[in-house]
Amino acid sequence: MLVFLMLVFSFALMLERLPVEPVKLTTNYLDGSGEAMGYGQLSMVDYGSVEVFAENLRFSHNLISYWISSDCDAGRRGDMVEALTIFSDEMKVVSFFEVDDDADILIGCSNDFVELGEDLFAAGEGGPSRIINTSGFKIIEEGKIKLYAMGGNCDYPIVALHELFHVFGFGHSPDPMNIMYNTSACDQRMSDDMVDLIVALYSVEALSDARIESVTGAIKGRYLDFNISILNEGLIGIDGISLTILGDGEVVDMVDLGEIAMGYGRNLRVVNMDVGSGVEEVRFVLDAEGLVRELDEGNNAVEMTA
Ligand SMILES: [Zn+2]
Repeated sequence: MLVFLMLVFSFALMLERLPVEPVKLTTNYLDGSGEAMGYGQLSMVDYGSVEVFAENLRFSHNLISYWISSDCDAGRRGDMVEALTIFSDEMKVVSFFEVDDDADILIGCSNDFVELGEDLFAAGEGGPSRIINTSGFKIIEEGKIKLYAMGGNCDYPIVALHELFHVFGFGHSPDPMNIMYNTSACDQRMSDDMVDLIVALYSVEALSDARIESVTGAIKGRYLDFNISILNEGLIGIDGISLTILGDGEVVDMVDLGEIAMGYGRNLRVVNMDVGSGVEEVRFVLDAEGLVRELDEGNNAVEMTA
């Protein structure tokens, strides 16, 4: 009798363990999951008439540090500080502070005369020097400015301000009265559309944004195999975020994904997760408890059906 029971038991166990033909799951990306970001706030940004190097290009924060090299004489240093003051006074959403090292914007000076053509000398150069590229933002990690000797002979810091706008991503304007015209004149100023663009870009609160980029999976009987990619396309890093896996609405497991730096991702591959028998719908939800504030809370869930 005992032998018979044991036989039945092990046969039942075998049935359960028998290889079952995997059923590939169909993925249904909910809301913004699986696609590049489309933040409502940013799709409204009007790029105006002065060209930009790239859209959605900005520093990750609004309080920006700068460092001025001791190579800069008092005149150019004064021009640069004045340009930074004008910029923050006009934009109001961005401000600057000076540091000794590790600055967001590095400002150097050169006494070289860099001739660009007949009677045309470089007054300065500037631009973003390091960018983190996510499909959400192009985040400026560092900007550089160099002021040459042929720069400042106006009361208004034309050259320093022009180079500062390059750091913020602006290209050149065809309008001779615009600060971004490619040769400088003392009466050039920034245009309203430039102010509007900076205000729009920097009014976006610096938050992270985890997104399920892709997921594939298959069910074999009561076991789930899956492969999921999660990206942080926001403006700051994530200290810790969880991924909840649900089978037919019941929580099966919650995985701690840990830190995800800005512009980075996590890949998770799991085989033979027991989701219970007969499950027809699997759902992956990031930050199910809503502990992480994100730019877009609507790209955190994916549903898969057998
Ligand atoms: Zn220029």
